[in-house]
Amino acid sequence: MGTAKELYELQEVDLDIEQRNQALEQVKSQLGKDEELVASRTALEAAKKRLTELEHQQKIGEWEISDLGAKIDTIEKKLYGGSMKNPRELMGFEQDLKLLKTQRSEREDKLLTVMMDVEDAQQDVRQKRGEFSVVERGWQENQQKLSTEKGRLEAELAALEQKRKAMAGQINSATLKLYEEIRLARQGRAVSKVVQGRCQGCRISLSIADQQRARMGNELARCSNCGRILYLG
Ligand SMILES: [Zn+2]
Repeated sequence: MGTAKELYELQEVDLDIEQRNQALEQVKSQLGKDEELVASRTALEAAKKRLTELEHQQKIGEWEISDLGAKIDTIEKKLYGGSMKNPRELMGFEQDLKLLKTQRSEREDKLLTVMMDVEDAQQDVRQKRGEFSVVERGWQENQQKLSTEKGRLEAELAALEQKRKAMAGQINSATLKLYEEIRLARQGRAVSKVVQGRCQGCRISLSIADQQRARMGNELARCSNCGRILYLG
């Protein structure tokens, strides 16, 4: 007696459990997922690396220029110090001087370009660092939320499982077995409400006999179309 009602209530709990299990799976799949964070960090690291390389190039450029400057100074001192008398030697040094000055001018042009690149790279690092901190904060908040949600779902599931166990304990095993079989075959819904003479599981109008048996309630009535246990709510 009252078994259809008990089974219907059990089904409500089972559906709640199923829904929470799905939500839990969803939460678990999102927990620890950090593709966006990793991509953002990788972009920042790449920008930093580029800046370091450019700063290194700048330093080398500066050393080269200062080295050329020192060489130019030495030659100029020799040339204008008045100690050199040999015209051929003088001409040789003048040619060297010209060459060194050309080289220095080229290096200076190159250095200017590198310095502009360094500025761009610095700007890029600032931007990427800002983007990363936004992504990181969002990620942390989201993970925190997911973790809380996971705890909540697990607690609810534990309570529902307990409730289910108590409810199932009140139903005889043969009935329970039938319920499980239909549930498996009918997408988790073994019990169907009867509304205005129709089985809500398959929407078919029930025969008078089916309705009658469902109304009597002393045996489990099943829809002759979909096989679900009928429950007159
Ligand atoms: Zn049906």
